[in-house]
Amino acid sequence: MIAPLMPTFNRADLAFERGVGAWLITADGRRFLDFGAGIAVSALGHGHPELTRAIAEQAARVIHVSNLYRIPQAEALAELLVSNSFADSVFFCNSGAEANEGMVKMVRRAQAERGHPERTRIICCDGAFHGRTLAMLAATGNPAYQKGFGPVVEGFDHVPFNNLNALRQAITAETAAVMVEPIQGESGVRVPDPQFLRALRAACDEFGLFLALDEVQTGMGRTGRLFAHEWAEIRPDVISVAKGIGGGFPMGAILASEEIARAMTPGSHGTTFGGNPLACAAGLAVLRAILEPGFLAQVQSVGAAFGEQLERLVQVHPAVFEAVRGVGLMRGLKCRVPVGPLVNAAMHEGLLCVPAGDNTIRLIPPLIVDRDTCAQACAMLDRAARAYDGDAA
Ligand SMILES: *Cc1c(COP(=O)(O)O)cnc(C)c1O
Repeated sequence: MIAPLMPTFNRADLAFERGVGAWLITADGRRFLDFGAGIAVSALGHGHPELTRAIAEQAARVIHVSNLYRIPQAEALAELLVSNSFADSVFFCNSGAEANEGMVKMVRRAQAERGHPERTRIICCDGAFHGRTLAMLAATGNPAYQKGFGPVVEGFDHVPFNNLNALRQAITAETAAVMVEPIQGESGVRVPDPQFLRALRAACDEFGLFLALDEVQTGMGRTGRLFAHEWAEIRPDVISVAKGIGGGFPMGAILASEEIARAMTPGSHGTTFGGNPLACAAGLAVLRAILEPGFLAQVQSVGAAFGEQLERLVQVHPAVFEAVRGVGLMRGLKCRVPVGPLVNAAMHEGLLCVPAGDNTIRLIPPLIVDRDTCAQACAMLDRAARAYDGDAA
């Protein structure tokens, strides 16, 4: 018999009743260190007082009004995002896939406004993850996710990640934009060469393309800057954001340059829920916390320390772990043993983390963790790995 809750996930037999900071607690009192953060979502951890209060107070006033009226919370959040990023204008939606869909619509329409309606194709990278809607399945390009879902949406071309020559060769007279993740998350925390994004910017300028970055996972402070592209000191034309933006409240956003935003006239795009008062109250609490003086510097220093702790783990267990990847608090641990059982072993030691592609464990804790908490996580990984050392002996 089919379960009432559709079985689209392989779920661990664990249910959490509450959370405090970086910890999740089951009904029977077992504590787990949450280094998955709901897949890079719980940016401020669990039970963050300001986020909780912002949501409760807004819920008591008004949860939802439609976009037929002004929404001061959305105006304030958009203003704060604009004044702290490359962007001139923001569109709010509800998820990463929806943000990416809107981003693709926007670059196509902005090309049409430029007098190039034929420029509709998007160049994406192998190993990308852009979401699960029909068009984003095409952008993601992973046949395993497309199987059985009918014709793949047209208009997306794929090139190897981190390969500028291949990308330049894929550009045609119909290309509208390049869409990439600054660091590929789902496929194993793959960091491109430092020059890659800059070279992409130059190629887009040379051929009249838009640079669209999927910052759904890398954004909102995850790498120690508000957005990961800031490390490359480039100005994208448009980016998508989601995951951490609401601190756990479902939310997405498209941050755009003036040229892109001007192509979106009233009626050209829409959403029922996107940017409602409750979502934006949550988003404001999260962004204000991230923009507090010292917050991002702390993510950088804790992230660097965590990286070193993980490097030591690789040295101690060279038969289990192969390499550390990532930036800030977006880390990948490439493994030599199958990652699924290892993630389960870590869970038995009290650590929650997320498997990713390329046999990699993803460690994406709440941004509020400190060095000691990261050391605790490493100690749990160490114990999980020791079981394998024992097997090998
Ligand atoms: C998670 C993710 C998405 C999809 O976000 P949803 O909110 O699940 O639709 C898109 N792009 C990247 C890079 C992601 O990590």
